[in-house]
Amino acid sequence: MRFIFIGPPGVGKGTQAKRICDHFGIVHLSTGDILRDEISNNSSVGQSAKIFIDAGKLVPDDVLLNMMSGRLTQDDCINGYCLDGFPRTIAQAEGLEHILSDLNQSLDAVVSIAADEEELINRLVLRGTTSGRTDDTSEIIRQRLEVYMKQTEPLIAFYEKLNMVKTIDGMGEINDITERILKTVS
Ligand code: AMP
Repeated sequence: MRFIFIGPPGVGKGTQAKRICDHFGIVHLSTGDILRDEISNNSSVGQSAKIFIDAGKLVPDDVLLNMMSGRLTQDDCINGYCLDGFPRTIAQAEGLEHILSDLNQSLDAVVSIAADEEELINRLVLRGTTSGRTDDTSEIIRQRLEVYMKQTEPLIAFYEKLNMVKTIDGMGEINDITERILKTVS
């Protein structure tokens, strides 16, 4: 199974993507986590990504596409994966289409998780008290939500044209949301 998880920051897409990966025994690929690892390793990708991440902006498309075209060819991706936080722009989605056709792979579904904005800000501010993430401050959270609306939300229409979108209500208990996703994609 191969899935994309799309949703605004704070909607719980990381938590849900992990649970769905555990359920199907497939790999969870969070580009945010991969980039934060690059930063802790002080790699050249990490050094350039940090400036964008700390400003709540997107890391340039070519960096992400290079990183993910390498990652998706690794052996652990053979049985399937959940892409969490990638693609985030139309250019990344188009790049991903090329990567997948080179690998002779196709996606099973795009899981779009939705919640209202006030709830998202509350969740993120709360997460900021424990996550240690430099981008979980209220000012940067607003910036990330704005970037999501402008650059990432259009992906839903992109994948709707391909008939791949499953929209999930992201409000409520974590277990219930996982059940909703499993019912929709199984
Ligand atoms: P996340 O953990 O998914 O919220 O990602 C944290 C930050 O990493 C984002 O605000 C971006 O700066 C960067 N990032 C993660 N994934 C991408 C992507 N696909 N394209 C560009 N930037 C990304």
